[in-house]
Order: sequence, then structure tokens, then C-alpha cells
Amino acid sequence: MKKVLCLTIFILLFHKGVFSQTTYIKTVVHVLYTSGLDISDASVLNYIKDVNDGFAKQLTPTFTRVTPIFDTLWSNTNIQLCLANFDPNGLPTNGITHTLISDPEYPGFTPSVAPWDGTHYFNIYLAPVYNEPGYPSFVLGGWASTPTNPVSGSTCSFAIASTNSIPYISELLTHEIGHVFGLDHLSDDAISDTPKGIEPVSPSTGYSTSCSSTLQSANTSNLSQDGMHWGGIDPPDMVENFMGLSFCCSYMFTNGQKSLMQAYIQTYLSGWISSSCFTTNINDFTLGSAALELYPNPAIDKIYISNAKTEQKQRYLITNNLGENVLSGEINNNNTAINIVSLAKGIYMIRFSNNTNNPLKFIKQ
Ligand SMILES: [Zn+2]
Repeated sequence: MKKVLCLTIFILLFHKGVFSQTTYIKTVVHVLYTSGLDISDASVLNYIKDVNDGFAKQLTPTFTRVTPIFDTLWSNTNIQLCLANFDPNGLPTNGITHTLISDPEYPGFTPSVAPWDGTHYFNIYLAPVYNEPGYPSFVLGGWASTPTNPVSGSTCSFAIASTNSIPYISELLTHEIGHVFGLDHLSDDAISDTPKGIEPVSPSTGYSTSCSSTLQSANTSNLSQDGMHWGGIDPPDMVENFMGLSFCCSYMFTNGQKSLMQAYIQTYLSGWISSSCFTTNINDFTLGSAALELYPNPAIDKIYISNAKTEQKQRYLITNNLGENVLSGEINNNNTAINIVSLAKGIYMIRFSNNTNNPLKFIKQ
């Protein structure tokens, strides 16, 4: 019954063309770190870019098949993560938090740092993870809690990826996000265009560390697991798929996975959907023009921007003296105050989405 309902919803949405537009997912990344091992915002932004590239069919394939039977299945899912501009209290944020923790996370459990409101934010965690006794640390490098498969005790859906083990953090994170968006492993899913793509994982050595020729030619599947799409021909393992376990080879989702994720998000995770996304890519922002004035300077809790010549909203991005993005949001004529309470004392630069020339620098006291 549930499946019929889901299918009906999906067909209606597909018919309306909803899936040809980008679905932005309001996201917060919580960096948890043990002493001295914090991850910079720039690194987090790179991970998110990799994930978004994977969802958008933008990654360079890790290898080329002699017979390119999977190429036509490779899908731009039209799903993109969008880092939050405001936290649950309405304060501006760049969508990244950093928390010092005393011990690594334990595999499979709810993260030790509370999520933001799980009905309105997709919470991602990047954290060091304990080795399971007798196993290499990357046997369980990441896990996910989903509406239909919650981690015990979890009140929100989240994805967590280990930062201290597997070398393929972006790929692993994309895999876990695929779970949050409703996907199962290729060996267990009911999607017709995803042949089995799993590799055997050795407890002594863990996952493969390179996309070897052996992995590329793997064919451990049988037709009953490969789905009806293949019309009686046994395809090789789809090691290039994020939902296998060959993270070193992975770069794609299929059309069938796109359809399932889009329907799942609309059904279970609609509170996360944003109508648009403000980028925090620093290249999209320029330093303020002479037409802009910033006051007071130095400032304690708020800065004000006079932008009388600006009729439209414009986005801003504040960076610290390390060049890291620390705050972003938007201002317009009616709302020129920017709350800087969350910033540490120091010197900052503020950039805008549609101005050029003179730098605007300010001091937080
Ligand atoms: Zn998995």
C-alpha cells in the first residue's frame, strides 16, 4: 500500500515537471573534532562542493569502461546541498559549526552533539570515529539515520562521515547522504537500473584504496540481483555508483536513484527544501564599493551597511583573517543590520554579491 502511494505521488510530481528544477536542501555541517584536529571551513566547503558535484553529474569518471553500458544511466539528480544562512535562532551563519569533543564518535550511534531542528535542517556530521575492535577503522566510516530507518534513539535524520579513517571522505559522505535521501545499497535496492556494485570488504584490510583494474572488471552479481532493466544480460558490478561500497571508484547516481530520491525527499523531507540557495563560494562575492558605508567600526554586536543605491537584495559574505567564510546572508534597503555576535574578536572583510572596488574591512571588539 505504501509503495503504491509513493509511486502515485512520484508520477504526479514527475508529470508536473517538478524534478527538472533543482531541489535545494537546507544543510548544516557540524564539525566535531578532538584536540588539535579541527577542520577548516574551506575544507568543509570543498567536501560539500564534491558532494554537490556528485549529485549534479559533474565529477570526472574514475575510469572508462570498454563497453560504456552505464553512461546513459548516469544522472544529474537535480539535488543540491545548500548551507544554511540562518541558524534556528535566526542569527546569520555560514552553515558550519565546530565543536570540540573529548572522545571520537562510536560507530552507528546518534552523534554526541545535538542536531539543529531536524524538521528544518539536514544535519551532517564530520567527526573522528572509534575503530571497532578487530576491524580497520574504515569498515564503518559513516552511517545515516533516515525517516524510514532511524538510528536507535535518533529524533532526526542525519549523515555522519568519519574524518580519521577512509581516504574518500567526499565519496563516503555522498553515500551516506544517498541513504538519508532513501537509497539502499545496490545489493539490496529495488531499483531496476542499478546492478549490484558492492565489493567484498575484508576485515583485515578494509575497503580498496584504489580503483584497481580488478575492481573495474568485477562481476560478482547474478541476474536476480541486477534488476529487470538488463533484459537477461548480466552486467558487470556498478562499482562507479555511490551506493556500492567501492568508494575509490564512485562518481555516479542513476536515473532510477534520482527518481527514488526526489520522491523520498518530497514525501519525508520536504521541510528541508529551500526555494533558492545563496552560495558561499567566495569567488561569487566582491569587496564593497565606495557607495557602501559600514558603521560602527569597530563594532560589538551589529554592523550597519548603508546601501542607498541598492534596490534589490544583495548577499554578503564575511571572511576572517585566515580567509575562511564565517558569516553569510542577505541585506536590502529595509534591513541593513548584520548581527556579528557570533564572531570572535578580530579583523574581518565583508564582500557583496553585486559590488566592486573598495574593500570593506571591520573590527569586531
Ligand atoms: Zn551504506
